[in-house]
Amino acid sequence: MEEIRSKELFEAAKRHIPGGVNSPVRAFGSVGRTPRFIASASGDKITDVDGNEMIDYVCSWGPGILGHAHPRVIEKVQEACSYGLTYGAPTEKEVILAELIAELIPSMKVSRLVSSGTEAVMSAIRVARGYTKRDKIIKFEGCYHGHSDGLLVKAGSAALTVSVPDSAGIPADYTGNTLIASYNDKDSVEKLFLAEPDSIAAVIVEPVAANMGVVLPENGFLEFLREITAQYGALLIFDEVITGFRLAPGGAQEYFQIEPDLTTLGKIVGGGMPIGAYGGKREIMEMVSPLGPVYQAGTLSGNPISTTAGIETLKILAEDQDIYRRLEDKAKKIADVVRNVAGESVCVNQIGSLLSIFFTSEKVTDYKSAVSSDKDRYAEYFGYLLDRGIYVAPSQFEAMFLSDAHTEEDIKYTCRILEEYLRQ
Ligand SMILES: *Cc1c(COP(=O)(O)O)cnc(C)c1O
Repeated sequence: MEEIRSKELFEAAKRHIPGGVNSPVRAFGSVGRTPRFIASASGDKITDVDGNEMIDYVCSWGPGILGHAHPRVIEKVQEACSYGLTYGAPTEKEVILAELIAELIPSMKVSRLVSSGTEAVMSAIRVARGYTKRDKIIKFEGCYHGHSDGLLVKAGSAALTVSVPDSAGIPADYTGNTLIASYNDKDSVEKLFLAEPDSIAAVIVEPVAANMGVVLPENGFLEFLREITAQYGALLIFDEVITGFRLAPGGAQEYFQIEPDLTTLGKIVGGGMPIGAYGGKREIMEMVSPLGPVYQAGTLSGNPISTTAGIETLKILAEDQDIYRRLEDKAKKIADVVRNVAGESVCVNQIGSLLSIFFTSEKVTDYKSAVSSDKDRYAEYFGYLLDRGIYVAPSQFEAMFLSDAHTEEDIKYTCRILEEYLRQ
């Protein structure tokens, strides 16, 4: 496969864009290849600037649950564009989207639209702090909640409760209120609550972790978080930026039947356009300005084009609930092939249309086991697939996403190539 034009563009990009990309994982840094510059996409395929067509399992990191350029979404967006791109004033579309969100995710009775998942999480945490009048939050190692200062943290080496910035440019003061627990480890959460019973505003969690590769919550883990937060007067925030509308129309909270106090959304809710949302009970959301003392705003919040793409995407998902069965069938096919061929030498985690192949013989249940994966092996696997027209995440620690547009034929082809790779 030729990569001539992609290579030229990457060189040009590096002259004016840090690392040549506008989001780091796109640089293919951990897989040692040149990023493919994409020219177009349709259904389950993306085509790069050299004309290579690839079956896409990144799906823009989650939004593409219907596949690329779904005709109904494109038609509505084109129509919406002709009415103007932004007004900075309320529109009917925002009302419709808020109603749809509340209908599909009943715990989000009241919600605010923002422009990204990062912003949604940042705002939800501000609301949780404003509502509880407490400063500290608990997050889990390996869960990603966007790149805001207080959430780019890693566990410090000393005491359990100390976290340190996980990026340069973040003052230690900004992360001091973020406590870190271990995913699927109830004790680690309990210890933090025991140490700071009156200071924790919220526990934030990806109900299915999908940013250290896919890691499922063990039986009872989410129930435990629901109970302990209620017991200590803290809020439970589900970051459903990936799982929202992906695991079920009502997201992970419908799938696992657990109601969080606040939920954050992004990715699918914008149908491919920039958007984020956060919401919960009226009583909590009434903290938000102009009703309450928690300030949060946005010039392009509730943008009419983003809301149009989001509304149409959610409508399609709500109309055709068989979609979730179809999605899971496809993911299972891939997971089964890998498990059958590779046996214990890899760990496959799959739920709904999300899956990860970890090159480790450990069972991956948290960050520690996720990072036991062989990254060189992943890079080799990635290159093998890319050279055969299959585009998976250029990092071991990202999910493989299925869309409704993935055809039987393309799944079959993918399974054949995976089998070929794993047998060699
Ligand atoms: C992608 C993601 C975010 C951040 O969303 P952006 O739109 O990239 O800012 C937050 N939380 C989770 C769980 C995500 O996967």
